[in-house]
Amino acid sequence: LRRNPGEVEFHQAVREVFDSLGPVLRKHPMYTEAAVLARVCEPERQVIFRVPWVDDAGQVQINRGFRVEFNSALGPFKGGLRFHPSVYLGIVKFLGFEQVFKNSLSGLPIGGGKGGSDFDPRGRSDGEVMRFCQSFMTELYRHIGEHTDVPAGDTGVGRREIGYLFGQYKRITNRYESGVLTGKGISWGGSLVRTEATGFGAVLFAERMLETRREALDGRRVVVSGSGNVATYAIAKARDLGGQVVACSDSSGYVVDEAGIDVELLRQVKEVERGRVGDYAARRPGARLVEDGSIWDVPADVALPCATQNELDEPAAKQLVANGVVAVAEGANMPTTPAAVELLQAAGVLFGPGKAANAGGVATSALEMQQNASRDSWTFEYTEERLAQTMAGIHDRCVETADEYGSPGDYVLGANIAGFTKVADAMLALGVI
Ligand code: NDP
Repeated sequence: LRRNPGEVEFHQAVREVFDSLGPVLRKHPMYTEAAVLARVCEPERQVIFRVPWVDDAGQVQINRGFRVEFNSALGPFKGGLRFHPSVYLGIVKFLGFEQVFKNSLSGLPIGGGKGGSDFDPRGRSDGEVMRFCQSFMTELYRHIGEHTDVPAGDTGVGRREIGYLFGQYKRITNRYESGVLTGKGISWGGSLVRTEATGFGAVLFAERMLETRREALDGRRVVVSGSGNVATYAIAKARDLGGQVVACSDSSGYVVDEAGIDVELLRQVKEVERGRVGDYAARRPGARLVEDGSIWDVPADVALPCATQNELDEPAAKQLVANGVVAVAEGANMPTTPAAVELLQAAGVLFGPGKAANAGGVATSALEMQQNASRDSWTFEYTEERLAQTMAGIHDRCVETADEYGSPGDYVLGANIAGFTKVADAMLALGVI
């Protein structure tokens, strides 16, 4: 705490992992002897930089840029960039720390990192977003590379931003290095399924959790928070599997649509028009917008928090349990507070933590890197099959590890221990570095 003052989200993420590690440290004292815990929460490198740019009114704007290269024991640093006004070092470090274990758990050869800026793309013109991205990359390019550090998107960073960032990287370095960024457009080095992967993966994870109790999503009521990249494709996949998604949200409120969220209309409003969920409600007969209150008040069998950190707190968890929720799978990173996780698990709810349930995005980014390295592009069906296999593997690894360490059904413990041991073993093998 003294080394990282004020970084509350980072402290929360570290505590949540360390709370699971007691049994593994007792079984394997070498991790303690080699100070693996102290090493694993100290990033290998952190870069903080000024991002100056000129807005449409001709005013100079200054934002702060970050890249935290957390751990490269398993492969190049890998993790997204977040553009949101709430971004500061504590958020980037929490996301980077989570990413290390998530990437390890995915079974793919990638290390963990994260970055971003306190720049807010909402309400900015395309030209402003481009100038910002070009300035951001003018510093970031020194630190990244296909064998070094491979950023991707996250909140506020979608295909448009990745395009501007990649364009500037290409221009500065004079290299068409496709593998330096993931989340690219299909015609310029991207992978099919990457856009859908995190949301699809979270739903596949929820379905596999339900299968352990001989249940399924088919016919279930589903509530999804958010309406961005992860939420949109979680809604689409839940619908494909027979779920009825009755609500989604953004920071202006939530929309209830008992007929089932119309994904095509949602995409038109959010992706094309960059509108709000209220615009969806206004155009969809029978849908209603709720501006005050919690989306978790809407009765659901399956809840998928896909918006932001700490959005599902203890009162929300109580309400979900009272309404009979069966499963919660985290599409977002750390959306459920520790007290809410405890409450849900104590009530017997299947709970899939983000580092397992939302790993489909980064796993498909790793598939994008494979395609770039071999200058190939795979079909949608083949890539989706690889995603499904990866999610099944992650699920089963959580279950087996939880069994092995005496806590059957505890996906949090299973994910943390399985993610930790792989990266810790690699760190031991590489010596004190
Ligand atoms: P987007 O920017 O595409 O969407 C974020 C969505 O969450 C928006 O609808 C946003 O609404 C909403 N939101 C943000 N804050 C709040 C809030 N306080 N209350 C209600 N809604 C809110 O981001 P992504 O979908 O990419 O990311 C969502 C989460 O998933 C993040 O935690 C991210 O780290 C995680 N994640 C993303 C991955 C990816 O592949 N994209 C991979 C793994 C995890 P508004 O527009 O009003 O701000």
